[in-house]
Amino acid sequence: TDFKSLGLSEQLLKAIEANGYETPTPIQRDAIPYILKGEDLMGLAQTGTGKTAAFGLPLIEQLLSNPKAPALKGTRALILAPTRELVNQIAQNLISFVRGTPIRVASVVGGVSINGQIKRLARGTDILVATPGRLLDLVDREAVRLNSASFLVLDEADQMLDLGFIHALRKISGLVAKERQTLLFSATMPKQIADLAKSYLKDPVRVEV
Ligand code: AMP
Repeated sequence: TDFKSLGLSEQLLKAIEANGYETPTPIQRDAIPYILKGEDLMGLAQTGTGKTAAFGLPLIEQLLSNPKAPALKGTRALILAPTRELVNQIAQNLISFVRGTPIRVASVVGGVSINGQIKRLARGTDILVATPGRLLDLVDREAVRLNSASFLVLDEADQMLDLGFIHALRKISGLVAKERQTLLFSATMPKQIADLAKSYLKDPVRVEV
């Protein structure tokens, strides 16, 4: 299997090549076609399996195929991850894929000044990568609006629960668009995650690597 046969456009294939990726990893091979079709998906995968590209590439593809200016303070896609390090890593990875496209990526994490983030979010973005706590802080300050986010990705969901983000996740999922595609990735599948998946995902495809 190559990336082309997964249904990705020429524009993204170029970006993938520029990144030096030659062959899709198993999670990419299994997840990308479903995500491109707009299906909700639950992925059981560890870091290092290539899951960022597994959700990032088809997400970018869908944003590109439906060009739309993000609203002020708005975002078209929201990706939540448990830690600063992971958010930064995801954002870096996505930025390498959107190079040469009009898609914009922003990231917000705790532990750094909030003012620059407020300023950045004011003009809106296509993809926002965030830790849940800082994102809620920005919501409370009315620095960001999530109602136009029609893609929601929960990455390392088990870690987010372990870190006590369940309340934040519930609040945030009530703020994003009701009509949306939701993707949930987790390394483990305890009952809490299964429950979370049940309440957030619609007839999800399940992919395990
Ligand atoms: P992730 O699991 O998303 O954190 O990815 C782990 C590492 O593998 C990152 O450095 C990615 O850039 C890299 N990677 C992801 N997919 C591929 C691929 N298909 N071919 C080569 N490297 C990849």
